[in-house]
Amino acid sequence: MPTKAILRHIRVETPRTNHERPCAAHRKGKHAHYILAGDTHLVVVENDKAIRYCQSAAAEILDAAQGDLDRLRQQLGI
Ligand SMILES: [Zn+2]
Repeated sequence: MPTKAILRHIRVETPRTNHERPCAAHRKGKHAHYILAGDTHLVVVENDKAIRYCQSAAAEILDAAQGDLDRLRQQLGI
C-alpha cells in the first residue's frame, strides 16, 4: 500500500501573469495586496477554491501546521 499523502490540498505556485489574485490574509485595510507575477505563494484548496497566501502569511500558517504535526506525533508516540 502506498503511503497516504495528506497534504494534497496545499501547494506552492509562482504565477507568470499579473492576473489579480488577492492575498487571503491581507484582503482589507492598508496591508491589502494582490499576489502578482513572480510572487511565489502558498495555495490552500478548500471546497475546490484556491485560497492564496503571501510569503509572510504562509510562514505563520506553516508554523502553525508544524505545531499541529508535532502534536500529532507526540500523541501517537512516534
Ligand atoms: Zn499577504
